[in-house]
Amino acid sequence: MQKIESTIKIGLEVHAQLTSLKSKLFCSCSSNYRGKEPNSLVCPVCLGLPGSLPVLNEKAVEYAIMAALALKCKISYKMSFFRKNYYYPDLPKNFQITQYDRAGGVPLAVNGYLFIDDQGRRKKIRISRVHLEEDPGRLVHTGPIDQSLYTLVDYNRSGITLLEIVTEPDMNSPREARIFLQKLRSVLEHLGIFDGSLEGSMRCDANISLFGGTRVEVKNITSFKEVERALSFEITRQKGLIERGGVIKRETRHWDEIRRITISLRSKEEEQEYRYFPEPDLPPIVLSSNYIEKIESNMPELPDDRLKRFITIYGLPRYDAGVLVSSKALADFFEECVKLYNKPKDVSNWMMSDLLRYLYENNLELQESKITPEKLVEMITLIDRGIISGKIAKKILPTIVVTEKTPSEIVKEEGMIKISDNEYLENLVERIFSENPKAVEDATKTEKAVHYLIGQLMKLTQGKADPSLASRIINEKLNQLRTKDKD
Ligand code: ZN
Ligand code: MN
Repeated sequence: MQKIESTIKIGLEVHAQLTSLKSKLFCSCSSNYRGKEPNSLVCPVCLGLPGSLPVLNEKAVEYAIMAALALKCKISYKMSFFRKNYYYPDLPKNFQITQYDRAGGVPLAVNGYLFIDDQGRRKKIRISRVHLEEDPGRLVHTGPIDQSLYTLVDYNRSGITLLEIVTEPDMNSPREARIFLQKLRSVLEHLGIFDGSLEGSMRCDANISLFGGTRVEVKNITSFKEVERALSFEITRQKGLIERGGVIKRETRHWDEIRRITISLRSKEEEQEYRYFPEPDLPPIVLSSNYIEKIESNMPELPDDRLKRFITIYGLPRYDAGVLVSSKALADFFEECVKLYNKPKDVSNWMMSDLLRYLYENNLELQESKITPEKLVEMITLIDRGIISGKIAKKILPTIVVTEKTPSEIVKEEGMIKISDNEYLENLVERIFSENPKAVEDATKTEKAVHYLIGQLMKLTQGKADPSLASRIINEKLNQLRTKDKD
């Protein structure tokens, strides 16, 4: 059997809401629907009432072009909207206004690419097209989709602007798919048109095939954390099926986030079933090259350029710079810290190791946490001033992340100030030496046993002994013993 990894082909179809827009794509209803009373942000247009007419949101076109330029796509100077017809409760008009690349249709942009970095390896992922379309309403199921007794519908989301980004099947592992989405999120955030921390703002469908076989589509992947899980599940499922002599069907499957499985929804519909045809209520859009050049000349700094700047201006290793720019919030946080405290590598070390690990393990976004650049810098400064040890800093970091308290307050409240009292530490060392004669003897010969003794002192002081002082006292005492031996 062929090695499976080399035959995996994954393509993504991403839907990103342009969350910075104030109003919907074809009406003036507010697009700030999260946490609002269901069906309170609606009008005849986004409810699809007869006789209502859509009017295109100009800002949406501008944002979409920014995204397409960032993804190195070829922009269409003339484009149009199409109706994609299907009947579903979240779609009151029975069609979605979208763009189409066939039957004379031209999407907003085509043929771009985005580079991803995976463990030091750079890879080009081709983008086949980028287009604008409207979001359907939101269906709220009671429990899992296949067991739900009833479903509620909220049309506040109906008509929200979506950017659809379709890739070629260039990814060869679930991990690459996750890295792609992460990078895409960072690009869109750097453009200032998208906030990926908002629930449901980036959703994705993935198609995956193994051994050059049939493509299966997985729908309803709600975040880049889920994409890796959903695709890994699908690989295991398809592989098992093939090994048992089964056949992979061309179908659409639904990712159930809670049970962490994919379930069959329907056999894949063919495109002609959607009866695409030009939207007669919206005229074709014609863009001038002037208009596009103007947008191009006002593009903000993108992650790839920011990465280069982090390397040259701050002297960061490429790996560090790559992790920091993988999220705009993270990169902004870093630069704020460096403004307050001019040791970029120290800041980056604290962010990359302890802070990110804590956020990751607790499934927290940086924006959701209580840590600020001021607080992180204050913590590092406490170490510099000899008030706390690095070890204590690691201990209080979680409290800094989840409470409003400042590092100084936490240190004071928990009595964690570093012990640099010479006499007190010397007394403790006496005790350790008399209780561990064997270790002391070893320590006069090997470095490893010295560390053991320092470790004992740290244990007795709950990590609060000043590490350099602790090591000095112990080494001095060992030196005395060594010279005594020679006498
Ligand atoms: Zn509306
Ligand atoms: Mn779509």
